[in-house]
Amino acid sequence: MAKKVTKIGVLTSGGDSPGMNAAIRAVVRTGNYYGLEVFGIMRGYSGIIDNDIVPMHSRSVANIIQRGGTILKTARCKEFFTPEGRQKAYNNLKKLGIDGLVIIGGDGSFRGADIFSREFDIPCIGLPGTIDKDIAGTDFTIGFDTAVNTAVEAIDKIRDTADAHDRLFIIEVMGRDAGYIALHSGIATGAEHILIPERKTDIEELVASLQEKERRKKLVNMVVVAEGDEFGGANEVAKVVKERLPTTDTRVCILGHIQRGGSPTCLDRLIASRMGYAAVESLLEGRHNVMVGILNNRMHYTLLERAVKSKQKISEEWIKIVKILAS
Ligand code: ADP
Repeated sequence: MAKKVTKIGVLTSGGDSPGMNAAIRAVVRTGNYYGLEVFGIMRGYSGIIDNDIVPMHSRSVANIIQRGGTILKTARCKEFFTPEGRQKAYNNLKKLGIDGLVIIGGDGSFRGADIFSREFDIPCIGLPGTIDKDIAGTDFTIGFDTAVNTAVEAIDKIRDTADAHDRLFIIEVMGRDAGYIALHSGIATGAEHILIPERKTDIEELVASLQEKERRKKLVNMVVVAEGDEFGGANEVAKVVKERLPTTDTRVCILGHIQRGGSPTCLDRLIASRMGYAAVESLLEGRHNVMVGILNNRMHYTLLERAVKSKQKISEEWIKIVKILAS
């Protein structure tokens, strides 16, 4: 029989993503609904180590569902990588009587949670908060929909100017290890080429294709490249393209951090609310060390240990769709 949780902590860790606030709100209000004491932990794992932990109530999370970023702040915490740091964190939780944690973050944060909960027997529930959508065991991650819609809006605008001047634009979107933002925003904006880390980039093939387009007098072209593409980002791709196609008017645009900010979309608010609620229910039901996900419109629980090992794969069908629709 699992220990009954009475006091829980919630934190946001690693890279921020829009919708984290909606998830915090759901955790706090669901916790309160079930009579739990809920604490907000500031700046990820640093807040546990530094004892920067504040009680939260229904009103503490008023008027945040629509806000990007995270009211709890987020951080990368080196000390949590060390056994001494985690021991300090445990001592602080123990002093406050916190007996369950909800961690909103990416796979790095889940790795930390997995190690911590094994060492100290503190049930940890992970919520996938990442714009990269690179986590297996869930169809959605909190923030992806907002980030990809921001990218779509920006790329649409760039296409207008590309069209006016007959230009080739090479646009870099976020995604150090995962190409989901590039793939989805590229398809949704009708990009002619999409370069992602999951596929080897054949730069010669790209140049040949652009040359062929030039011959056909198709001069407006958009190449969407994920920042982590193995060939390189937009600047590296543009360098080769400019050398090989000197008469083409080639421009680079790196979208950067605008993709992380902004008001979360309806979808991100909904999944964050649903996952936050499910995280508290999971703790009450005695679930340990799982990530809450949504698969085929049902809640799905993946052991943190497994969640950090497997990445969401990009299906071959998507790649085929890109080829057919961009031709
Ligand atoms: P994300 O959660 O966005 O993937 P990071 O990979 O930067 O972000 O991880 C966030 C934090 O999680 C790290 O700064 C660290 O505090 C903690 N963490 C990550 N990996 C480990 C690990 N192997 N052991 C302990 N803590 C970790």
